[in-house]
Amino acid sequence: MNPPSAPSSLEQIASCVAGYDPNALPVAQAQEFIARLVPRVGAVESLALRSALGRVLARDIVSAIDVPAHDNSAMDGYALRGADLKADADSVLPVAGTAFAGSADQAFDAGVPPGHCVRIMTGAVMPAGLDTVVPQEFTQPEGDKAVRIPAGVVRTGDNRRLKGEDLARGSAALRAGRRLRPADLGLLASLGQAEVPVFRRLRVAFFSTGDELRSIGEPLSVGCVYDSNRYTIWGMLQRLGCEVIDLGVVRDDPAALRAAFSDAAASADAVITSGGVSVGEADHTKKIMAELGDVLFWRIAMRPGRPMAIGRIGNAILFGLPGNPVAVMVTFYAFVRDALRAMSGQAGEPPSPTLRARCTTALRKKPGRTEYQRGIVTRGADGHWQVAITGSQGSGILSSMSVANGMVVLHHEQGNVAAGDEVDVIPFDGLV
Ligand code: AMP
Ligand code: MG
Repeated sequence: MNPPSAPSSLEQIASCVAGYDPNALPVAQAQEFIARLVPRVGAVESLALRSALGRVLARDIVSAIDVPAHDNSAMDGYALRGADLKADADSVLPVAGTAFAGSADQAFDAGVPPGHCVRIMTGAVMPAGLDTVVPQEFTQPEGDKAVRIPAGVVRTGDNRRLKGEDLARGSAALRAGRRLRPADLGLLASLGQAEVPVFRRLRVAFFSTGDELRSIGEPLSVGCVYDSNRYTIWGMLQRLGCEVIDLGVVRDDPAALRAAFSDAAASADAVITSGGVSVGEADHTKKIMAELGDVLFWRIAMRPGRPMAIGRIGNAILFGLPGNPVAVMVTFYAFVRDALRAMSGQAGEPPSPTLRARCTTALRKKPGRTEYQRGIVTRGADGHWQVAITGSQGSGILSSMSVANGMVVLHHEQGNVAAGDEVDVIPFDGLV
């Protein structure tokens, strides 16, 4: 591994991003900037297999064994030499014995006599010299010691699983950077691996800013709202497998903000705030961010979610998200999610798949910004995906996010959408 180099300054990073304009930054450029900004957390720990679900593999896992360890049968039936079968007539083969799965049966070590077959169970080791399995349902008994096999029901090599066909000894079973899914736990178990090296979990501190915010349990006075962003952010961070540090609601007071930012930066790899980053913002959030860190204030060419602060405070990466509840979620999905994945060591996976769905209504869209509209995807009567936009798309309408099952992405250059046009949709849920 390369020794850690000094991180680039924000200006250096900006100079590498073609078309960088902090006041009208296209989503793709913002994503590129952030990808260049975020470091990877390097510390590694070893975990028992089940505890590693959702964690990021820190090293390649090289298979020390062949899986399966032996050629074995994929079916219940009769193992034989393919060459012993007649091409155009039934073959009648004497049965030399039975091979069961899991038993260390040495009966066939000396070989199976030519022209004979062996009754075999799924998973049983192929007796030496036999290369083909005829499924039981194709055969008829011929007395109690032989079996009749019609012509043409199998070809040589059929229904045999080869040694090492799943994982070959010495090959990389899983690559570093992979977030472990249920299939991976099974794969690691099939190698007999009890513990796995994973990157330590990313620590992410977050708080909300705004004098109008009240925490659950407090009375709501006129003009106040309950702080919902800390709950959506908490939920999204949990889904990403982060260790979360909830620092509550911070008043619009320089000393309180200074203390919160310092605390957050000292205890976490990343700090996420919501609110206080709009252009007209009268409060102190932006001022304190700029005072304590190296921070840029962007206007992103997107809707919702135009304002955003990005940079570093101490060693932590700062994501200053807008305050509106939908904008928080959209900017998180558009920028923070991939950044945190990269920081936690995730690498080398293809981007999440998107759907193409027919939009049920016309949408107005200006080229020159990316729009994320909330949609409900269903199957149309003809079997194609279709997407209906959820009512009002205001950035404060959190219910639009809750009823939706995906986000329609109207890309930067895209213009108006006619009813029936196909659009890209990012589904909210995949398989577990
Ligand atoms: P701001 O970006 O601070 O101007 O906030 C924009 C809007 O989002 C305002 O209407 C805020 O009241 C609202 N808002 C900001 N933070 C939160 C929060 N944590 N929970 C709910 N609404 C919020
Ligand atoms: Mg505010």
